[in-house]
Amino acid sequence: MQQINPFGEGFAQEIDRYDWDETIRAVDSTTEADVRRVLAKAATGRTQLTPEDFMCLISEAADPFLEQMAAMAQAATRRRFGKTMSLYIPMYVSNACTNKCVYCGFNHDNPFTRTTLTLDQVKAECEAIKKLAPFDNILIVSGEYPALCGVDYLEKVLGVCRPYFNNMTIEVQPMRTEWYERLTHAGLNGVICFQETYHREAYKKYHPRGMKSHFEWRLNGFDRMGRAGVHKIGLGVLIGLEDWRADMAMLARHLRYLQKHYWRTRYSVNFPRMRPSESGYQPNVVLTDRELVRLTLAFRIFDSDVDISYSTREAPAFRDGMMTLGVTSMSAGSQTEPGGYASTPDALEQFEVSDDRTPAQVVEAIRNHGLEPVFKDWDAIFD
Ligand code: SF4
Repeated sequence: MQQINPFGEGFAQEIDRYDWDETIRAVDSTTEADVRRVLAKAATGRTQLTPEDFMCLISEAADPFLEQMAAMAQAATRRRFGKTMSLYIPMYVSNACTNKCVYCGFNHDNPFTRTTLTLDQVKAECEAIKKLAPFDNILIVSGEYPALCGVDYLEKVLGVCRPYFNNMTIEVQPMRTEWYERLTHAGLNGVICFQETYHREAYKKYHPRGMKSHFEWRLNGFDRMGRAGVHKIGLGVLIGLEDWRADMAMLARHLRYLQKHYWRTRYSVNFPRMRPSESGYQPNVVLTDRELVRLTLAFRIFDSDVDISYSTREAPAFRDGMMTLGVTSMSAGSQTEPGGYASTPDALEQFEVSDDRTPAQVVEAIRNHGLEPVFKDWDAIFD
């Protein structure tokens, strides 16, 4: 009798085709000739780059080509997105969490008073955000506590937010296909999920408890979003856990897999570097600024359609420097504690924000770089 996988079907059944150490060796063995060949292929604009091409571009061998890569990434971004920068703002609705991610301040074992916003508080947050700036893209974020912040709660939150925002994205626990469908009918436009790391064995070490400890359930969540017809899916890796070259190669493979299977969907990628958290966890892996530049340029050359997002985890000068080089969306004025816009609560932040400029200051920086800040790029009428 055929066995049914309790965590569903999807990329988790594909990923084992790729060996982790072999992936790192392939990146490390890249030569300058390989990089020249990939850049020449990209310059023709006729053939889509493969994840193996992408691996050449993130290698050390690509470092001498950084200026050429920057010019190509900028041209590709302008062709597809114009001179624009899309802006969004996160709204944390709860910091309750049943998981024990060792690197996170919201970790279940971290003793602090948890906050889950009431619907009135959510409304107050919406109004406070609207007073900050004319944001139209909201990212609703919660810890993973389905009993408190499950589909029923999220559906109500979307209902409260809908009159204020045309574009609503959630970053919450992975859900069932039918729940994504239900939320899509409530106005949900996008879902962001961080796989954190694609290293199957190491994943367990960082996520020892709760639903998040199930690598396959999380990884196949992207397939469930695709099957549910979510308009935009965001993939994320947390840089600081495992070897970033292998994690990014797996992310590139995952993106190509999803594009092939759910071709109506739009995609975004996000690869923040770990910041200090209340848990006191220090990153295992450090990605230098120069490497992050190379990685971002490589991703843009690899895929000219994907939205590349930088959050306020990155410092102002670095975010400004990357504005014209492939990044297409940014958060601004972020508060990472529930209720952080309407009041000044003493609730815990998930991580320390590095760019604490106001939205007006970020807008000014965007304009100074010759770009148009875009608060609205979607209308609910398209739903
Ligand atoms: S990273 Fe997310 S799931 Fe993990 S402890 Fe923090 S809030 Fe919970």
